Amino acid sequence: MVKVVKFGGSSLADADQFRKVIKIIKAENDRKYVIPSAPGKRFSDDVKVTDLLYRCYEVASKGEDITEVFSQIKDRFNTIIKELGIELSLEEEFNKIHSAMVHKAGRDYAASRGEYLNGIILAKALGYKFINASNVIFFNEDGTLDFEKTNNVLSEVLKEHEYAVIPGFYGVMPNDTIKTFSRGGSDITGSIIARAVEADLYENWTDVNGFLMADPRVVENPYTISKVTYKELRELSYMGATVLHEEAIFPVRTAGIPINIRNTNHPEQAGTMIVASSDSYDHERVITGIAGKHGFSVITIEKDMMNSEYGFGRRVLEVLEKKNISFEHLPSGIDTMSVVLATEAIEGRREDIIEKLNDSVKPDSISIEDNIALIAVVGRGMKNAKGTAARVFKSIAEADVNVRMIDQGSCEYNIIIGVSEPDFKKTMNAIYKEFVVE
Ligand code: ADP
Ligand code: ASP
Ligand code: MG
Repeated sequence: MVKVVKFGGSSLADADQFRKVIKIIKAENDRKYVIPSAPGKRFSDDVKVTDLLYRCYEVASKGEDITEVFSQIKDRFNTIIKELGIELSLEEEFNKIHSAMVHKAGRDYAASRGEYLNGIILAKALGYKFINASNVIFFNEDGTLDFEKTNNVLSEVLKEHEYAVIPGFYGVMPNDTIKTFSRGGSDITGSIIARAVEADLYENWTDVNGFLMADPRVVENPYTISKVTYKELRELSYMGATVLHEEAIFPVRTAGIPINIRNTNHPEQAGTMIVASSDSYDHERVITGIAGKHGFSVITIEKDMMNSEYGFGRRVLEVLEKKNISFEHLPSGIDTMSVVLATEAIEGRREDIIEKLNDSVKPDSISIEDNIALIAVVGRGMKNAKGTAARVFKSIAEADVNVRMIDQGSCEYNIIIGVSEPDFKKTMNAIYKEFVVE
């Protein structure tokens, strides 16, 4: 049996957390490949090492003195080493990194050093081989993962080592510079490694009891989901359940490797199993989870008889395509069509978009509404349980919230609802209460 284990930033924030992690790894011989993140927050106002590194990069790129922020970063690592009582000096590494920063090494290089240094410490503490991610994780010229090469090299290299630590979050470009995944990307590294070694399980250790039915910062003390399918998880993580990076399921999905989300602070809890498929679901709760995101706008286009005009939708989308804007949803009526997209994507070019749409489809009216939050209600049981949509909307109406948009995916296991941003929390809680009987 082979388990790949990834530990997030809060799991490795200080020496006490390191000790918990080491205990977890040593508790099972199967926990062979370990992927650490950079040290995260030790308390709520603390700063993650990754953010200190980004700050350091900003200061250096302005040509200013990095001494202060760099010494904060050094301190974080040195304190962990000292308190763990391990025989290790990172002075040489610090000097190299300091010099690279001063000579304006890239932003991604700077950010990646958190995982790199933490990996060296963890490998030393465990007595495992340290394998630099820049020797095994490869990106293409366009910044996408070179999956073939990565998978081949990783499986060859890891064959040589029964146990190893491989830092998360980064890899190397064809020109030898360091590139990172997007924020939270150590989850992706873990998944890639699980795939390469054909692991039996990918354990993802974090600071909550698993994948919860809702964001614990929005709904108080939500239940842990015991089992969730890749598809449901993809919907939930894309829609804002940030516990697992939204791209982390792809490498393991095709190989059918389950992911187990666990709590480093409560290893006695079973956590959440993420599996390829499941016929069973909780008949009482019906839904698997709820997630949501802020920052959307809706462009509404009205035109009499639009449905009889060939290519109407295509011409609308072409305007967006030419501006490299992707859309989230396309709810449409008989004579109206709406495009839901991230507000960020249209910022600074609204007038231009409206003008191009006017030219292209000559509508009767166009309007843009901002401050929309999207909420996804997801569950494999929704297909079979009649009346789920009715319960969702009844609970929202009872909370006195006006629904701005509805989109039921053709897969029948999700309903997406748009509400105005101030109603977000109220709506999430209303839906949660409707389905979870305390
Ligand atoms: P790590 O540093 O271990 O990678 P993250 O901070 O990336 O951890 O993810 C864990 C956090 O995700 C939790 O502390 C929680 O605040 C947040 N979160 C948001 N939605 C959910 C959810 N549905 N279930 C669990 N956690 C969630
Ligand atoms: N340390 C990185 C971040 O803060 C990557 C990760 O935690 O997965 O985004
Ligand atoms: Mg994370």
